[in-house]
Amino acid sequence: MFHVCHAVNVLAISNQKGGVGKTTTAISLAAALVEKGSRVLLIDLDPQGNATSGLGVGKDQPRSIYGVLVGDEGLGEAIHPTGVVGLDLIPSSPEMAGAEVELVPLMAREFRLRDALQHQKGYDTVLIDCPPSLGLLTVNALAAADAVLVPVQCEYYALEGLAQLLATIDAVRQRLNAKLEVLAIVLTMEDRRNRLSMQVTEEVIRHFPELVARVRIPRAVRLAEAPSHGQPINVYDPGSRAAQAYGDLAQEISMRLASRVPIVLGGVGA
Ligand code: ADP
Ligand code: MG
Repeated sequence: MFHVCHAVNVLAISNQKGGVGKTTTAISLAAALVEKGSRVLLIDLDPQGNATSGLGVGKDQPRSIYGVLVGDEGLGEAIHPTGVVGLDLIPSSPEMAGAEVELVPLMAREFRLRDALQHQKGYDTVLIDCPPSLGLLTVNALAAADAVLVPVQCEYYALEGLAQLLATIDAVRQRLNAKLEVLAIVLTMEDRRNRLSMQVTEEVIRHFPELVARVRIPRAVRLAEAPSHGQPINVYDPGSRAAQAYGDLAQEISMRLASRVPIVLGGVGA
């Protein structure tokens, strides 16, 4: 007797630097994947709750990722619909500010999210928007994920901190989650008229020729405006260059997921 096993892809969107485009990529990519026919669950793991408010959901929901991680609430009870049909959200909440500390004494503290996700069905992809740190919340995301997307902003300090992030991912792969890999580095806020921005793009590609996604995200005011309307870019301004870019990125990410080969991180960060 054979069962057709429909695997859910769990992707963590992580970079311990703030302001590099993690949340923008989480929301925009999630909505773009939905547009291409996927059912997507976005988990807002950042106490700041920007993915939650950016999708038009209030940050004060009684059921949030907090109860799942720190309490014993089931994941299913914390799922909220969004304005986009096919895109569901597990919101963050103000209590998440204490989660990093409250997780410390808990049993199997690194695996709270993985265990909660274990029996979750009904989605093709789960995206996890990580906080800007490499603490227990991010470790929970990395332990639960199949792969990591790393947004990198096209600015002078782009590569700084990347070695530390890759080392953390490597450590999680060795100790907690053998299947974890980096799926792609996504260059964000690229400004083609700016020489420095283009030099950074070239430098990151030179360091990580295989890992850098072919699709790069342009700097676009519409992307910065969309969250205040509680809408993803492909709803807020469907014809924009930015919406197009995230649509193309969704295509590339799907292809990378379909043709996944394990990447040995040891050689990448060196
Ligand atoms: P992070 O989640 O890594 O902290 P955000 O996605 O919140 O980063 O982005 C930081 C800021 O930059 C936000 O104000 C966001 O609206 C803006 N932003 C993100 N991506 C772009 C882009 N491609 N073009 C213009 N502004 C952007
Ligand atoms: Mg964020």
